[in-house]
Amino acid sequence: MIAIYPGSFDPITLGHLDIIQRGAKLFDQVVVAVLRNPNKAPLFTVQRRLEQIRTSTKHLTNVEADAFDGLTVNYAQMRQACVLLRGLRAISDFEVELQMAHTNKTLSTEIETVFLATSNEYSFLSSSVVKEIAKFGGSVDHLVPPHVALDIYQCYAQNHPVSNQITTESTKPLQS
Ligand code: ADP
Repeated sequence: MIAIYPGSFDPITLGHLDIIQRGAKLFDQVVVAVLRNPNKAPLFTVQRRLEQIRTSTKHLTNVEADAFDGLTVNYAQMRQACVLLRGLRAISDFEVELQMAHTNKTLSTEIETVFLATSNEYSFLSSSVVKEIAKFGGSVDHLVPPHVALDIYQCYAQNHPVSNQITTESTKPLQS
């Protein structure tokens, strides 16, 4: 049974990796599928995200990374997959995910969405949280694989100078 794990993965986090590792035990093959989404301005190119995923999952022989455009169900049919794998962190995820699963069901009755509940330690974790911390100069070593952390630090050092100086009302220079 082939499962597609679709998402942005901008970048892959330890939360994603947890779902991939657990999915790899449940399914014969897990395809981590990076959506080329023209509506989002990503931090990393699709190519870089694929490299990050491949390096993070090289110990898992039944996991591969690929990129796709358009509807996830069309991609799943093309790959002969009958499962869409998704992770659930909180009630807020549940609402969005349930709507997406129902919508996908109207597009293809053959494809089932399977949800894995996040492991407790990653329930707060998202790619956005990682980027927000890194943007302000914080460490993300505990949130992403080591090679991804390096990519993030490099990216912010080159393109986005870290703004981690704390300015408060009392430290602002007085205006004359
Ligand atoms: P999207 O752009 O679809 O939100 P993401 O890359 O953020 O893509 O996430 C892909 C999938 O991984 C989603 O099902 C999301 O709920 C799940 N996910 C993201 N972070 C975590 C986490 N920390 N624990 C479990 N699942 C997660």
